[in-house]
Amino acid sequence: PNGYKPFVIDVEEAKLEKTHEEVVEAARKSFKSGKTKPLKFRLEQLKGLEKFLTECENELVKALDQDLGKHRQEVLMTEIDLLKHELRQTAMELSKWLKPEAPPKSWVNFLDGVLVYSDPYGVVLVIGAWNYPLLLLLGPFIGAIAGGNCVILKPSELAPASAKTIATYLPRYLDRDSYQVVCGGVQETTHLLKIQFDYIFFTGSTSVGKIVHQAASKFLTPVTLELGGKSPVFVDDTVDIVTTARRILWGKCLNAGQTCIAPDYLLCSKNVEERFIEAAKTILDEFYGEGVKVSPYWSKIVSERHYKRLMGMVSDGEVAIGGFGDPMERTITPTILINVKPDDLVMREEIFGPILPIINVNSALEAINFITEGDKPLALYVFTKRKDVKDLFLNGTSSGNVTINDTIMHIMTENLPFGGVGASGMGNYHGKYGFDTFTHKKGVLVRGLGALTEKPQFIRYPPYSDFKTTL
Ligand code: NAD
Repeated sequence: PNGYKPFVIDVEEAKLEKTHEEVVEAARKSFKSGKTKPLKFRLEQLKGLEKFLTECENELVKALDQDLGKHRQEVLMTEIDLLKHELRQTAMELSKWLKPEAPPKSWVNFLDGVLVYSDPYGVVLVIGAWNYPLLLLLGPFIGAIAGGNCVILKPSELAPASAKTIATYLPRYLDRDSYQVVCGGVQETTHLLKIQFDYIFFTGSTSVGKIVHQAASKFLTPVTLELGGKSPVFVDDTVDIVTTARRILWGKCLNAGQTCIAPDYLLCSKNVEERFIEAAKTILDEFYGEGVKVSPYWSKIVSERHYKRLMGMVSDGEVAIGGFGDPMERTITPTILINVKPDDLVMREEIFGPILPIINVNSALEAINFITEGDKPLALYVFTKRKDVKDLFLNGTSSGNVTINDTIMHIMTENLPFGGVGASGMGNYHGKYGFDTFTHKKGVLVRGLGALTEKPQFIRYPPYSDFKTTL
């Protein structure tokens, strides 16, 4: 549009035309004006966001190729189309969500209005991660807009082309005072966190999650923390091993394993391990033919630091498949490790790359004991045909989400809350859960002053009596 002047454009230098304080102040002023509250405004902004995703699709796909070497289809499937779907669902249902809820009433409140209002918090900070730079920034943004908030978006500096594309184009489609993009790295985030917000939504590592939580506690700001960790997979001997291996390897290879809910490690018997590895060879061939080096479907590792970190893990245990890296291209071949020990580095840290270690267990119970000794996972995957095994995991473990007989797909399933528990995070979002996250549930009691409403109230006024307490 004519006269458009982005206030943040140079991501590398994180050069701002406004200070963080000014950005937040503008958002606060906009929130106070009340303009973000009407349904019509919220719907217009959601539409603007959808238009941005459609009209800037090529720029976004190009940016993700630059940052992570992601294939166009993967960008559409795991980011843009998911966002558009949620946008449409939210726009369709928002008027219903905005209606005050009327919970059941007791006889004392027979004549009263007993209502729950969903109030926006105010000015919200959303901090994104680099691995799905659109989904993890704009997904929470949908809930925040729907909730009637003003929002400051902070994309990850580790996906600079995506951050720059968002900062350049997104403001053209939205209300400029209410929604703003602020770029930068650790230094800028640290500074932003010194400012008071009404809600902070953070996606990233558990260690930085603790920093965010601490900063938020200074102002008692409520937070949602979408963190990481090791998401285990258990496979028993009742499954079709080819389908199982295909679903696990797809989840592990998506974005070269740089997915918060990627299956991190595999728990199975020695016999299942042998069959899994045989199946894996065929499946990786199916997926990547001549090899990941020449495949357009294989992503690169985001940075040299992460590349080196991952190559350090490949020396744990024994390589059954893969184990090769190319430092120039920052690619690592899909790798399966066997004879891994629980205290090896690859088992102590979240892997976040295309390496799958296998730990042998002899039963579902042994697997459950192994899992429950560690931090609560973000996702848990169980492959079995047995109902008792499925129930054992569902009742005997705690994790953010569970998928039985597949990986990743719970994040793409409409109407399921997405989030972690314990070290993998707090709070959740997606669809109505996102709207609920970004709204304060305000209980409201509305009472008349007439004689009829006053009559039943006599029980609370002195003089007190035993008769009154029995009522
Ligand atoms: P990260 O924690 O390093 O960075 C996330 C954000 O925090 C970035 O915007 C960065 O600028 C900021 N940051 C980094 N260090 C900081 C500091 N010391 N002080 C203040 N801010 C700081 O995470 P990442 O590398 O971007 O992402 C990888 C991690 O995120 C993995 O652990 C992964 O599992 C997790 N993750 C979780 C989800 C989820 O939905 N639960 C999704 C994606 C990634």
